[in-house]
Amino acid sequence: MQKIIYPTNIMLKELPFEGRDYHYSHESKELSPVLKELIQKNDYKVDLHLRPLGNAFEIAGTIKTKIDLPCSRCGRDTEFPVDDNFREMILVEDQKPRGGHSGHVGSDLVSDGPYCNYISSYHFDIAAFVHEHVAASEPYIVECGRKDCAETVIKAQLNTMAPEHLDEKTNPFAVLKKLKG
Ligand SMILES: [Zn+2]
Repeated sequence: MQKIIYPTNIMLKELPFEGRDYHYSHESKELSPVLKELIQKNDYKVDLHLRPLGNAFEIAGTIKTKIDLPCSRCGRDTEFPVDDNFREMILVEDQKPRGGHSGHVGSDLVSDGPYCNYISSYHFDIAAFVHEHVAASEPYIVECGRKDCAETVIKAQLNTMAPEHLDEKTNPFAVLKKLKG
């Protein structure tokens, strides 16, 4: 079976009326160089549909992958799944300043509508778009969910404690250390 390699730089003006599908994966590797720093060696699957919509463009689809992050509590590497489903707009902005109306940009225009990506030319970089989505789905606090997560933190604290500080009267952890033999 022949592998299809999809382009990652799209000329938006060339999209047909009905739009076009784009599929990327770790097997065909199109996005691997860009995503590597975020997802390391994890698999990824990106399915996108781009289509013209009036004088703008729509990008919809899914991004599935995993990010390895250290647990905020016990520090062990934790696989964090990314399952992103989205429908957004792409607006190509006129680079020439409009006479006297410089304030007519931003999100006011579509405050109730879908998220808008403003770009300055009809060249759309899918790799950068996907990178941004994956980076944005990184959680601020990672909890590994392992049963011994809290226990590991206590053990680590005990191990860094010098024996002379293990006095039951002054250090509550000393009792624990004793119990563990
Ligand atoms: Zn943990």
